[in-house]
Amino acid sequence: MKLIFLGPPGAGKGTQALGVSSRLNVPHISTGNMLRAAVRNETPMGLAAKKFMDAGQLVPDEVLIEMVRERLSMADCRTGYLLDGFPRTVEQAEALEGIAAPDCVINIAVPDEQLLDRLTGRRVCGKCSGTFHISKLADARVCPVCGWTLTHRDDDQPVTIRQRLKVYHEQTAPLIGYYEGKGKLRTVDGDCAPEEVLASILAALE
Ligand code: AMP
Repeated sequence: MKLIFLGPPGAGKGTQALGVSSRLNVPHISTGNMLRAAVRNETPMGLAAKKFMDAGQLVPDEVLIEMVRERLSMADCRTGYLLDGFPRTVEQAEALEGIAAPDCVINIAVPDEQLLDRLTGRRVCGKCSGTFHISKLADARVCPVCGWTLTHRDDDQPVTIRQRLKVYHEQTAPLIGYYEGKGKLRTVDGDCAPEEVLASILAALE
């Protein structure tokens, strides 16, 4: 199964991808996680990408397309993929058609007013990639799943979040119509408890 999770930042794509990828036995490929690893490792690509990420802008299409092309050529993608955060532009979507076109696109819909709170309160685990809201954590510094240190992403600050939402509406939301036109889009309500969102996604995939 070749699957894309589409949705604004904070929609819960990463959280849902963890559960769905293991059920479908396909790798969870998060371009945001790949870029953050490149930034941490100070690779030339990471250093170039950092200024776009810190500003809440998209990293240029050609960089992302090559990164995803390489990742999808790896052996674990023979069973398919679950892409989280890619494509984010029509140009990326067109390129993906020529690499390995998706079977289905799940659009996780959440109203903007919910997203600001979700993102400012978001803490992420650098080890298991778990994502948590501070209101649900006994200790905002420790991952409740694996015990690793939780961090507040540099781009989860109010000014950058507003910019990321603007970029989402201008550059990524057009993909909803793009995949609708191909008959591949399934929209689920992301404005409810994570277990309910997961159930809607699994029902949409049946
Ligand atoms: P995410 O973790 O998916 O929210 O991505 C974090 C940041 O990485 C984004 O705000 C972009 O700067 C960059 N990024 C991730 N995926 C893409 C993509 N497909 N195209 C361009 N930039 C991306």
